[in-house]
Amino acid sequence: MKEIKKIGVLTSGGDAPGMNAAVRAVTRTAIYNGLKVVGIHEGYQGLLQKDTFELGSRTVGHLIQRGGTLLRSARCKEFETAEGRKKAYDYIQEIGLDGLVVIGGDGTFTGASIFSDEYNIPVIGIPATIDNDIFGTDATIGFDTALNTIVEAVDKIRDTASAHNRLFLIEVMGRDAGFIALRAGIATGAESILLPEFEEYQTKLREYLEQKHKRSKQNGIIIVSEGSKIKAYDIYKEITKEHPEYDVRLSILGHLQRGGSPSAYDRVIASQLGVAAVEALLTDRSNEMVGIRNNQVVYVPLSDSIKEDKALNKNLLRIVDILSI
Ligand code: ATP
Repeated sequence: MKEIKKIGVLTSGGDAPGMNAAVRAVTRTAIYNGLKVVGIHEGYQGLLQKDTFELGSRTVGHLIQRGGTLLRSARCKEFETAEGRKKAYDYIQEIGLDGLVVIGGDGTFTGASIFSDEYNIPVIGIPATIDNDIFGTDATIGFDTALNTIVEAVDKIRDTASAHNRLFLIEVMGRDAGFIALRAGIATGAESILLPEFEEYQTKLREYLEQKHKRSKQNGIIIVSEGSKIKAYDIYKEITKEHPEYDVRLSILGHLQRGGSPSAYDRVIASQLGVAAVEALLTDRSNEMVGIRNNQVVYVPLSDSIKEDKALNKNLLRIVDILSI
């Protein structure tokens, strides 16, 4: 293995609060170990457009508390082609990078894994996505912050739901995984939750609507994951048609879920994973993701992290059923 003297770091895919904290940790750990660090703008695109700059320990000062990403993020179609990756590799050679740390989600890791196999360049992935849908790690950077943002918003909506005796359908992010919806639903005491993974919750929602009608209490919160088989707007139309007794409103939280200052938890795991990523490169590891399992840092092959589907915690589902009576 070639000695690691200079590394590059990039953030790619959807932005997540805490990406900055991870960039800071990677930069300072590298400098602490005598390495040079290059920041790559806008994910893989920065390698293709030669858009990079040297990171110093002061460049990343006062960054830990900031949302978004200093390096900016982008989706880069060209990197999905062999020609695009060749261009990226040529530039990596030109500026003399001996390793890469990529911060992002499963798409970012797919690209990293292919690239590392093709060109034998050491790559370590740090999981950062609000969706928490990466196998091999209990948490991804940004998930906790997004959840807290959602809880704050839903609590406010609950006030108006109670005041006006309204039923609110609230769509939350998570793409085709229900991690955000499940935890947000539990934390806000939602009356019902619709998850992409379990269609039977549609039946439970319909039962809930019937029961409340009989008990004449019509306010409540229903959390709908954006990946749910039945979409929030379709349920809204269904309730309006089938249950005119409900004063129903639809609220799509949207991109506010992705922004904001990272929570303490996200800052801590971003710092842990940033340190672990650089230490992994220094100990000849490659093609792996650094993750957190049972509060310990773990190394997972990138191929596993992208191949396997992470399962929802069945115990949390049981809690929903018990507590939403
Ligand atoms: P999030 O989960 O927040 O959406 P992500 O990392 O999954 O983040 P993607 O847009 O899926 O986001 O992927 C980010 C980038 O990774 C892509 O724009 C592309 O540059 C690269 N990438 C994704 N899939 C591949 C692939 N099959 N081959 C090469 N590169 C890829």
